[in-house]
Amino acid sequence: MIRIAIANQKGGVGKTTTAINVATALAATGWRTLLIDLDPQGNASTGIGVSAAQRERSTYDVLVDQAPMESCIMHTPIPMLDLCPATVDLSGAEVELVAMEDRAHRLSKALRTDLPYDVCLIDCPPSLGLLTLNALTAADTLLVPLQCEFFALEGLSQLLTTVERVQQRFNANLGIIGIALTMFDRRNRLTDQVADDVRSCLGQLVFETTIPRNVRLSEAPSHGVPALIYDHACAGSRAYIALARELLTRLPEERKAA
Ligand code: ADP
Ligand code: MG
Repeated sequence: MIRIAIANQKGGVGKTTTAINVATALAATGWRTLLIDLDPQGNASTGIGVSAAQRERSTYDVLVDQAPMESCIMHTPIPMLDLCPATVDLSGAEVELVAMEDRAHRLSKALRTDLPYDVCLIDCPPSLGLLTLNALTAADTLLVPLQCEFFALEGLSQLLTTVERVQQRFNANLGIIGIALTMFDRRNRLTDQVADDVRSCLGQLVFETTIPRNVRLSEAPSHGVPALIYDHACAGSRAYIALARELLTRLPEERKAA
């Protein structure tokens, strides 16, 4: 099982949209996929079609009470795609974890290698607190959604510094699988400029696929279905299919075979 954290400490940059649609695309190609919702807002859980009322145990139980991961996982309406949902009590976990000795390793311990999945995507909250730290400690690699806006690069350097610290202290093997430019608007000269800057600064690290600003992507969550199912032919869905494909080409060969 390859574990991919989807993180960026900025809110509203497309983390959850990326997590939902890449997870759906990977499941559609036959990968046994687990989506872990680490954001107390629970948008990934809702967006995948699991309402708050349907959630019983959650990532809170995994992190704070050390409940076995499989006891908190539920099926979603999408074949091959399971979910470990988030509930609002997760917002307290950050504080409760502080006093615990293995506070950064709780998720890592729960994500045992014998879980029956090929890939696990972890949707992080918009902060660099203990929840995101748990994700980065548990992950093999990191996918960073980056919105093409003026301060994008500043925020990114803070995230990359955090990644270095995590590599030094908690998870020497943490890699970065790529940076995905999101909410790209071709008609806006600023986003174009930012995209060029990010690419010249970070080169190969940036996925070739950019995710356009697309209203279908923002409509889908209110229907409780991934955009990929809500409208599989819209520009946003096509971009996420391309991104998932590109992601697969970046995974090490031995992982793909596993
Ligand atoms: P994050 O998880 O980083 O906070 P979200 O994925 O929840 O970000 O996206 C923030 C908002 O923007 C949501 O309302 C979402 O539906 C919308 N959105 C995300 N990506 C796009 C896009 N490419 N085009 C249009 N709207 C988008
Ligand atoms: Mg989110």
